[in-house]
Amino acid sequence: MADTTPQHPDVDGVDGGVGLTALLVAAARAIETHRHDSLAQDTYAEHFVRAAPACADWPVRIEQVPDGDDNPLWGRFARYFGLRTRVLDDFLLRSVDTNARQVVLLGAGLDTRAFRLALPSDCVIFEIDRPGVLAFKQRVLTGLSAAPKVKRVPVPADLRGEWSSALTTLGFDPTAPSVWLAEGLLFYLPGPTESHLIDTVDRLTTAGSALAFEAKMEKDLQAYRDSATYTATREEIGIDLLRLFDNGPRPDSAGDLAAKGWSTSIHTPFDFTRRHGRGPLPEPNDALEGNRWVFAHKPCP
Ligand code: SAM
Repeated sequence: MADTTPQHPDVDGVDGGVGLTALLVAAARAIETHRHDSLAQDTYAEHFVRAAPACADWPVRIEQVPDGDDNPLWGRFARYFGLRTRVLDDFLLRSVDTNARQVVLLGAGLDTRAFRLALPSDCVIFEIDRPGVLAFKQRVLTGLSAAPKVKRVPVPADLRGEWSSALTTLGFDPTAPSVWLAEGLLFYLPGPTESHLIDTVDRLTTAGSALAFEAKMEKDLQAYRDSATYTATREEIGIDLLRLFDNGPRPDSAGDLAAKGWSTSIHTPFDFTRRHGRGPLPEPNDALEGNRWVFAHKPCP
């Protein structure tokens, strides 16, 4: 019989398992939105948090956190998500400016880029996530009468299975340029599944396409188990990220893309903190130490 306890990674929806991490990122984006020096604006984020019983007592503004920015979860870690959102917004907007009109969000969670970014009107955004997560998201957006700025196509699918035919059946055209984001996703998947996903993105993309993804480079994720970030996330909101991450060996996806002819660049989040003058900086015993943001482009001939 399936284990459906809230902490089990396989629980569908946003009430537990990996789906609850979508709400963690939404809460972080809500907090970021209300900052005076906000890096990204997402006015929908707090509505998701308020609609989910699992996070009834989570903050949506830094002023609601007793220790404010000193709180490792709602201070530094939330700011990390705010920075990541901004950096990937910029990547997406640049890619759409140059070429792509199709956007694919892998593990879309409660991402609202279809509603909040100034994208060309002929853009289409495909949002892939598990059915329960997308159903919750739709319920909240419908309740808000939210209208996307561009065509939005939810694609309910488990990325551990076969998902590419669902994407193409719903209108994705592999012969036209596309831009893909895997934001906060790959480390939840087994290594071979990540490799298969990267192969699939390569197969479904034409020259001029782009992909950005987040990876964790540390050899032993458990090395940072006692870091302030993981401890606060576990103890304050009951999300044990290290239990949700896949603990097997990781593939070198940036290297694999380079071997397939993509150009790649790899950055630490701290590179962007310095660029924007806001965001997390390195600290001792740092859960973010191994995090990298990879930007890949499939060159035109
Ligand atoms: N990309 C979104 C963002 O940054 O706001 C969500 C990030 S959240 C940390 C991880 C997301 O990946 C969740 O929405 C979860 O449901 C999704 N996810 C994890 N494993 C998945 C799988 N096997 N198939 C589809 N989605 C998955």
